[in-house]
Amino acid sequence: TAEKQTLGFQAEVKQLLQLMIHSLYSNKEIVLRELISNASDAADKLRFEAIADGSLYESDSELHIRIAYDKAARTLTISDNGIGMRREEVIQNIGTIARSGTKEFFKNLTGDQAKDANLIGQFGVGFYSSFILADKVTLITRRAGETEAVQWESSGEGDFTIETVEKAGRGTDVILHLREGEDEFLNDWKLKTIVRKYSDHITLPILMKKSEWKDGENGEGGQMVPTDEDETVNKASALWARSKNDISDEEYNEFYKHVSHDYENPLAYTHSRVEGKQEYISLLYVPGKAPFDLYDRDRRQGIKLYVKRVFIMEDAEKLMPQYLRFVRGVIDSADLPLNVSREILQDSRDVEAIKNGSVKKVLGLLEDLAETKPEDYAKFWNEFGRVLKEGPGEDFANKDKIAGLLRFASTHADTEEQNVSFKTYIERMKPEQEVIYYITADTFAAAKNSPHLEIFRKKGIEVLLMSDKVDEWMLGGLTEFQGKKLQSIAKGDLDLGKLEDDADKEAQKQVEEQAKDLVERIKTALGETVKEVKVTHRLTDSPACLVAGEHDLSGNLARILKAAGQ
Ligand code: ADP
Ligand code: MG
Repeated sequence: TAEKQTLGFQAEVKQLLQLMIHSLYSNKEIVLRELISNASDAADKLRFEAIADGSLYESDSELHIRIAYDKAARTLTISDNGIGMRREEVIQNIGTIARSGTKEFFKNLTGDQAKDANLIGQFGVGFYSSFILADKVTLITRRAGETEAVQWESSGEGDFTIETVEKAGRGTDVILHLREGEDEFLNDWKLKTIVRKYSDHITLPILMKKSEWKDGENGEGGQMVPTDEDETVNKASALWARSKNDISDEEYNEFYKHVSHDYENPLAYTHSRVEGKQEYISLLYVPGKAPFDLYDRDRRQGIKLYVKRVFIMEDAEKLMPQYLRFVRGVIDSADLPLNVSREILQDSRDVEAIKNGSVKKVLGLLEDLAETKPEDYAKFWNEFGRVLKEGPGEDFANKDKIAGLLRFASTHADTEEQNVSFKTYIERMKPEQEVIYYITADTFAAAKNSPHLEIFRKKGIEVLLMSDKVDEWMLGGLTEFQGKKLQSIAKGDLDLGKLEDDADKEAQKQVEEQAKDLVERIKTALGETVKEVKVTHRLTDSPACLVAGEHDLSGNLARILKAAGQ
């Protein structure tokens, strides 16, 4: 297959390219960030594969990234000696988008440039961002261990060409043929500034030629010209292994963007070095925005696992429980074997210990955020609250901690905003009140307008209004908070306990007495369709309501199960 093939981009790629060029033209610097990030990933992959097969290094084991420019040709080249790609891999990786969440992404586009730019950023522009700067991109790559190299070329319109070429060194060169007017990127100082700003945390050395001042001749101005000597532009040490005091917020943020493929800053992070029985470093981030595929089963997981600075695998789902699947970051273990596989991870006690420690860190981070930055916590809750609600059912050991982080809507404000914690609720409880009251329904409006609430509103007792799908599941795992039972107001006999005074009880008895005949007649009329007909003190305005038995499924859960075909 030495001949040149012309292939079409997948429709989505075409669409993405168009959008990107039009909405992200003011973010030109991210092009370098993305390409350097890819080069760094490629080096990580090579290092990992080389653990099993050292010959993949060929005779070149000093991994690095190189940035070079050619003023005359108006090209900018980003090269790596990482894993490289085979022909099929190039076609697959750089001609299609096989990511989960792609459909959602395209559905969410509005046509409003600013909004879409934001969405595209969240989706991740990756390699395609090259076309923001370039009107033609040439990629030449040779997979480690292979002899054939391939050249891919495209002007980012409808198609690309691919052909077999020669390439001595392993890895990938991406050559950007700059658009008219982008000559500022053919500048030594400009490029070095961008690299330091966005890619200082990259573990590999990013090399450029040293430049020297050369005086102008014949009265012309002088300029910086490249020499033959290499210079490492970035710090090139693993950011997470550095001391906290030496890392700026900016660096933490840029590192986050690299590991998460996010485009915006994270909401919060926790960085710690654990010593003792297990030795590891964790740098974990809470993103500012939920990804498109938060609920997608094949979504990417967030944690990158390293062993002594060597990248082992992405998506190490064993390192975070499902209910914290939004967390992104790095865990670097000093104890795990380098050849650790997914199977070993499955039932390794060391991994279990690292996971438990990391979960504690994240929960602690969230507690701290809730305490010290309530506005940020509210943002977090809006994005990820529904996921966190899966926690009590999944993580028994941390149930209380998680419960403390939960937020709900309630009759106190009567708005849909979920901002009441159990703690706040308890502080507002009536002196005689013993339990936490809640109601579940399939919409907020249904919860808020439920006739079950009438007596509570009349007596000024706060009730939590739950209408997220996950709430029933959460309540299955959570029956109390700090010794206070959670009580549905729509189930069983409503015992208001000490909240009722004797006069209430007396009045209730009288009504029951008076209504005896009526109750009997209703019972006969409804027959088998109901278990029981009772006079209730639940209602103050409505004439009747449906109540589930104490041990029956709640009406809402019954509806959910029915909808799910159970
Ligand atoms: P992402 O990095 O988020 O996967 P990109 O669009 O940046 O998305 O890259 C798409 C894919 O192309 C990568 O996942 C990788 O498989 C491949 N790729 C890109 N650049 C390189 C490179 N320099 N070396 C090897 N593979 C690369
Ligand atoms: Mg990338």
